[in-house]
Amino acid sequence: MPELRQDVVSGRWVLIAPDRDRRPNEFRRTAVHRAAACPFCHGHESATPQALAVYPRPAATSLQPTWSVRVVPNLYPAVQAAAGGYAPPQPPPTAPELYPTRAATGVHEVIIESPRHIVGAASQTAEETFWTCMAYRDRLQAARQHPDIRHALIFKNVGADAGASLQHLHSQLVGLPLVPTEFDREWSRALAYYDQHNRTCLFCQLLQTEEKDGSRVVWQSDQFVAYCPFASRFAMEVWLLPRRHCSHFEITSDDTLEDLARAIHDCLTRLELAVPSVSYNMVLHTSPFDTTQQDHYHWHLEILPRISTVAGLEWGTGCHINPVDPLEAAQRLRTARGPAA
Ligand SMILES: [Zn+2]
Ligand SMILES: [Zn+2]
Repeated sequence: MPELRQDVVSGRWVLIAPDRDRRPNEFRRTAVHRAAACPFCHGHESATPQALAVYPRPAATSLQPTWSVRVVPNLYPAVQAAAGGYAPPQPPPTAPELYPTRAATGVHEVIIESPRHIVGAASQTAEETFWTCMAYRDRLQAARQHPDIRHALIFKNVGADAGASLQHLHSQLVGLPLVPTEFDREWSRALAYYDQHNRTCLFCQLLQTEEKDGSRVVWQSDQFVAYCPFASRFAMEVWLLPRRHCSHFEITSDDTLEDLARAIHDCLTRLELAVPSVSYNMVLHTSPFDTTQQDHYHWHLEILPRISTVAGLEWGTGCHINPVDPLEAAQRLRTARGPAA
């Protein structure tokens, strides 16, 4: 079973999951066999564990797939539901305080975003993007019911440089028994801003300021604004925020999910057009499950292109070198030929 270990020097938690090393990696194979052997394609449903959720394709004929989006357990999970079999390793008897561990209980799910073998968001139909957003909400709601899970992350890895092992467009949900160190830092900084600025949400303030200035804004609708952050770590980085303050993604309404699907599809399509064959991660930041609506925290999506390499300086200092000014990034994304908003 996977195990969580804490590095006592940094406070960071690390997942030790040796089974993950057995995962297939399509990027190491020849292109010819990729679609034929893909476990996520329509017709290969038996290659994945039984679906946890299936979102329909209403107009399907007998020759077409009956589903738009499927959610399945990850075959090589980084965390697992408690099986009652976890035996903590024996720490060195002289210094157990140096080796904190805990069972990596949780869920690890895969959201397959299309029955067709597509590798980029631009190829998704509007219906598939909408059902993907619906799956994000439903699976977070399901994870929230799990007594061992405190926090869940939804993310998408597109391209080998972003860590994807299978090409077929998919997202993942990982529910953890703890709040990750990085998220905790963001949460604490937002809380400090709220306390020091007359109970103002840091994200609402950023959103209003960026919208008023406009130079870094990539896309906006009635309900969402996407912009390149002033201190973007990555070239062409984009953040997508709901205009209406909300701390927990899982309470998002159907109507807002429809607008979110349009926003995600537009932003990712612009990125894929502006930087052909780009690898990127998309990460959802949302509040821990053991909290109620928070005035200081605002859920959002971060799109992190992997154009330049994270190397020694970044690992050594946490300080990224970004070779593209966010103003220029926003301009390139605005002018990339995207679908009509
Ligand atoms: Zn496929
Ligand atoms: Zn807010």
